[in-house]
Amino acid sequence: MNLDTIFYEAQQAFLTYKNLSATKKADFLEKIAELLEANRGAIVLMACKESNLPEGRINGELGRTIGQIKLFANLVREGSWVEATIDPADPNRAPLPKADIRRMLTPLGPVVVFGASNFPLAFSTAGGDTISALAAGCPVIYKGHPAHPDTSKFVGQCISQALEKSELPAGVFTHVEGGVKMGQDLVKHPLAKAVGFTGSFSAGKSLFNIAGNREVPIPVYAEMGSVNPIFTFSQRLANELVPLAQSFVSSLTLGAGQFCTNPGLIFVPKSLSDRFSNAISEAITGVSPAPMLHEGIADSYYKALTELQLRSELNWVKVPDAKHLINASPALAEISVQDWLSDDQFQEEVFGSFAMMVVYDSEADLIAVANKLHGQLTVTLWADTPELQAHGELINLLEEKCGRLLFKGVPTGVEVGYAMQHGGPYPSTTDSRSTSVGAYAIKRFARPIAFQDMPQELLPDALQDGNPLGIMRLVNGEFKK
Ligand code: NAP
Repeated sequence: MNLDTIFYEAQQAFLTYKNLSATKKADFLEKIAELLEANRGAIVLMACKESNLPEGRINGELGRTIGQIKLFANLVREGSWVEATIDPADPNRAPLPKADIRRMLTPLGPVVVFGASNFPLAFSTAGGDTISALAAGCPVIYKGHPAHPDTSKFVGQCISQALEKSELPAGVFTHVEGGVKMGQDLVKHPLAKAVGFTGSFSAGKSLFNIAGNREVPIPVYAEMGSVNPIFTFSQRLANELVPLAQSFVSSLTLGAGQFCTNPGLIFVPKSLSDRFSNAISEAITGVSPAPMLHEGIADSYYKALTELQLRSELNWVKVPDAKHLINASPALAEISVQDWLSDDQFQEEVFGSFAMMVVYDSEADLIAVANKLHGQLTVTLWADTPELQAHGELINLLEEKCGRLLFKGVPTGVEVGYAMQHGGPYPSTTDSRSTSVGAYAIKRFARPIAFQDMPQELLPDALQDGNPLGIMRLVNGEFKK
């Protein structure tokens, strides 16, 4: 099928699918979840083989993917996500009568989704972008990632089967393959209404530019990664130095560091930096090299580290072992805060288990860091409560730089729930108002529409007087069911 046909069918399917009842849409999403569960064995086998990720991780990721689909099914079934808002008419208002205005969210239309290499399931074919778009009422044209082609096609077939079983048009979901040009053509297509993407900064930004230069620009929700800084403070660090070093190393090396929330930057007070770097060094020594997702990603990891090894500002706490096949070993370098501040290159993400430990001296150093820091998915503070209270200005600045601020634990392990925010200021994403994980991801693929003085019988159920869906609505300024 050529792209014009694919988009035409998606657009035709949209006209039916957007009006599907919430119950039928939720049933369809649950059918996808059922089919994934029924095919668990085959999917896990395929995804492990193609991604080099261990079975435990892939099994967990499939569970997460299924859980995510159920979350969106529940959200759609409950229905209040459409933000129904009603300002009733007032014909007696003087000097002019007031019109009846009713507003709600409506799906955008066919959406292009790019699968991510590092999550062959949860951020791929039936992952968060696809499912949140389908939940919103948008057909999806999905470009499979070449790092896991069979898994991608197989999961795509499960979605198509779910459509068939639900008696919905096939054009609601289409799986396509192809390289960079295919990706660009998808974004350029006049019938595309939005884009969901997870991957590199260069690809995400390039797609964002293409979308902005179209005759009719469209939104691109690109999640492009981040270095997820951890700020440590002396009191907390002194009390828990070894466990914190261990938990940092576990987070850094989880999945060979191939997570967008991988902590690639840690700020440590000078008074404890030697002890902390020794503790890290001890913890990291026990970590064996692990295979990366594919040759290209392993090559990029080693290329970035080779370039960094030429920088005289860095002191290597752990030099990476030599590359063997696609295996990568963790690496850690130390740098003074002054040197870190002097060059933006030190903020760039090295995708894999590499981190930079920045040694600071004072509150003023941290304020300078916070002012210079690029937008991040997450920022973590390891501090006791009195230390947090003493650093109000810093926290205030850091809130401006991230989508999720953590006061405990590590940034890896993104919970899928109603309140999760997985997105942050540029360059971590192209739209800081959005999230690609959690219930609010659905809002990316909907736009508001207001109906003025529309006859009751013609209004969508969500906006009718009797509230037939029983959803939460803002009526005349008051939330009520
Ligand atoms: P990628 O290179 O960004 O590719 C992701 C998708 O975008 C693929 O489908 C790719 O197509 C397509 N693409 C790449 N460049 C494009 C362009 N200029 N125009 C249109 N489409 C384009 O990501 P990757 O292959 O997964 O990994 C490469 C690097 O991305 C990693 O080393 C890492 O730095 C980063 N990454 C970041 C995250 C994150 O969490 N933010 C996740 C994964 C990877 P083809 O592959 O078919 O050419």
